[in-house]
Amino acid sequence: MAGTWIEVDLDALVKNYQEVIKHLRPEARCMAVVKADAYGLGAVQVALALERVGCEAFAVTKIEEGLILRKQGIKGLILVLGPTTQEEWPLAIAAKLQLTLTELSSIPMLNEVCSELHQDVSIQLKLETGMGRTGFRLSELETLTISLTSAPHLKIVGVYTHFARAVQKDKRYTLGQYEQFRALTARLEELGIRPMWKHVCNSAAFLDYPEWHHDFVRIGTLLIGHYPGPRFIGKLTLIDPWIAKSRIVHLRKVPKGTYVGYQSIYRTKSETQLAVIPVGYADGLGLAPHFVPQGWIDFFKILIKNFAALFGIFLGQERVELKGRTVRVAGKIGMQLTVIDVGLQDCALGDEVRIPLRRTVANPRLHRKYKQGGQILSERTMEEGDLPMYTEYLQL
Ligand SMILES: *Cc1c(COP(=O)(O)O)cnc(C)c1O
Repeated sequence: MAGTWIEVDLDALVKNYQEVIKHLRPEARCMAVVKADAYGLGAVQVALALERVGCEAFAVTKIEEGLILRKQGIKGLILVLGPTTQEEWPLAIAAKLQLTLTELSSIPMLNEVCSELHQDVSIQLKLETGMGRTGFRLSELETLTISLTSAPHLKIVGVYTHFARAVQKDKRYTLGQYEQFRALTARLEELGIRPMWKHVCNSAAFLDYPEWHHDFVRIGTLLIGHYPGPRFIGKLTLIDPWIAKSRIVHLRKVPKGTYVGYQSIYRTKSETQLAVIPVGYADGLGLAPHFVPQGWIDFFKILIKNFAALFGIFLGQERVELKGRTVRVAGKIGMQLTVIDVGLQDCALGDEVRIPLRRTVANPRLHRKYKQGGQILSERTMEEGDLPMYTEYLQL
């Protein structure tokens, strides 16, 4: 029995997908972005569940991620969003992954690989409009077109761009990016490249600009039950499919004044019970992306938090939930063990605790249980060498 595990509610995931579909322009389709192991939920199970309800397209960052999806039975379109390397191309072509072209120098080499394999490859062009990451700029389009004429195995099926600031309320930058996208696609058409598909929207842009849905919207955040930012709450009804749980593996009554954990930053204020749960920062608990203040209010919040910590007051200390009650993490989160101060409430060894584990940093080795229709549909554990093991319980 796992001490710490994650439950993923596939019914909730499917409902989120259907909610997205409801708001989609009829001519557009939803491309489910399942990169980074579907933001931690588990790419294979998420993609399979969505494919069962009609999702036809998926996106990942790396070829490796696409290959796993194909191997586990995903039939739909799989687009690799990130730059790729030559060594991976033969497998990607054999698995019929669609690749994003980001490098002019790849064109002749990729065509050569295709020619050796006697296969074509479907390509989407990434256009750089303000993300500053990958993609072709206006000045490169002519050279691009010339290179493509001598690469007959590369079939250009799509063209897309990615927004840097779609989450922000101020729309000027995003409007500028879209203008740039229109200018770039117009130039491509002049040069004789008319790809089948265009797509620009991520979750935030999907909600703000229905007129930009085009042929696909690339949705990750909304599917996993998150809003891209506070101003989007309520625009759709989303359900969080993710529950992380641990269980009490050690429990002791202690007197007032007991120090807990590294650096003894926590001291009990009265007689209480301390419980240990087998989860820590090695599993992702307490980890959050580096926070960059967006303005002065944010800056002062951070300042006050650090100032309070100097006096042993820890604002924003992690909390967990035990039998419907919120209890505090006592002291620093350890590598694999964490202490919680459960008070004098009735609890026992083995009791379940809900923990605030961020999806994208949750250790992939943590056991995952996939629930659908009230039962466990499949589980995922990790084998030695990090290969995921899938146990299916139901044949669908
Ligand atoms: C991650 C990603 C998306 C999905 O963005 P969400 O905001 O999570 O929906 C779309 N497009 C590209 C290129 C991405 O990298």
